[in-house]
Amino acid sequence: MAVIINDTTLRDGEQTAGVAFTPEEKLAIAAKLEAVGVPELEIGIPAMGAREREVMGAITASLTTTQTMAWCRMVADDIYACRGLGLDWVDLSIPVSPQQMQHKLGIGRAEVLSRIQHHVRVALDEGLKVCVGMEDASRADPAFLYQVAEQAELAGASRVRFADTLGILDPFTTEETISGLVDYTGLQVEMHAHNDLGLATANTLAAITAGAHSVNTTVNGLGERAGNAPLEEVVMAMEVIRQGRYRGKVGISVSTLPEICDQVAAAAGRSICQQKCIVGQNVFTHESGIHVDGLLKHPENYQGFDPALLGRQHALVLGKHSGKQAIKNLCLAQGIYLDDSQCEHFRTILALWVEANKHSPSPEQVVELVKHHLKENLKKQEQESRSERLKVLPQCHHPRNHAGLANIAEGE
Ligand SMILES: [Zn+2]
Repeated sequence: MAVIINDTTLRDGEQTAGVAFTPEEKLAIAAKLEAVGVPELEIGIPAMGAREREVMGAITASLTTTQTMAWCRMVADDIYACRGLGLDWVDLSIPVSPQQMQHKLGIGRAEVLSRIQHHVRVALDEGLKVCVGMEDASRADPAFLYQVAEQAELAGASRVRFADTLGILDPFTTEETISGLVDYTGLQVEMHAHNDLGLATANTLAAITAGAHSVNTTVNGLGERAGNAPLEEVVMAMEVIRQGRYRGKVGISVSTLPEICDQVAAAAGRSICQQKCIVGQNVFTHESGIHVDGLLKHPENYQGFDPALLGRQHALVLGKHSGKQAIKNLCLAQGIYLDDSQCEHFRTILALWVEANKHSPSPEQVVELVKHHLKENLKKQEQESRSERLKVLPQCHHPRNHAGLANIAEGE
């Protein structure tokens, strides 16, 4: 059975502290998500006001195949604010944990069930499909979750959303809890994971394994606090993990992920960490001698999945952990031959350079370093012959970053 991605970049993603998309950015992100094949988008909160509603209406008008959802509190005015926006779905959210029922809304279980019974019907009368959002479900009594699902089904909802609002679940508990819910209810079950413990993707996959109908994601994992399950991680994991559980279950082409991640990073004003899995700049870059040697012998020695799936490729760089052969090869490609002893010297120079600069040198910088190093050797020979003539020690005038390198080059 296919798994529906319900992407909430434009709702929960924009709730990231300090992130605000312009209407144009929201429209462009929605268009891109539709183009890459995301079937459902949660696009905003109508109760936020006229400006938010206007953008939501523009988004629904611009999409052709992707369905749209609004996020609402379980409140009649929030539902009425959806009028005229062309939405397919509404998520009606209500706390279900003792903590939030008591200390956020000051209500008990009976009132929660009664509000669900009433408001699901209000939303249905507005022509919307209804998902009942069970806020803080991970801290709820499972028996009460079943009651909520039962009431939602009776009232005419199509789906319940299990929100791990605080990101406190692990994959094992998630699989067990979602399995129980899927077995109990005839409704679609949707997983909403947060990443406070770094487990949002794992919990999302666990929910899929347990039979969840749909899962919430955000591009680059944007969202409250540590964010939501990243779209790119969930889609790529489903593509790559070959246990027969996930493959072919999501109709989104992974080759489109880097572009959508860049687009959202720019709109969010949040750059992607270099080492962020799948889309980080350096995740297919190799330096260590053992790995580079292994990759050159056969890519699959050190390749979990082919970066070409993402339109990317392996990159080899030089650094502190480079082997001699990699250094010689790169220099040869630049027209410079290093013998064994020069290469050994240059390894130390490289290590010192990266320790000082905290990044790999570009090929141009490698050439510069090699030339500098060779020049120092030449200078040294020159100085030695001059010293012999003048019987005095030479003076050194090296730029700061190269001072240590020059000393090493001269054998100190
Ligand atoms: Zn959330």
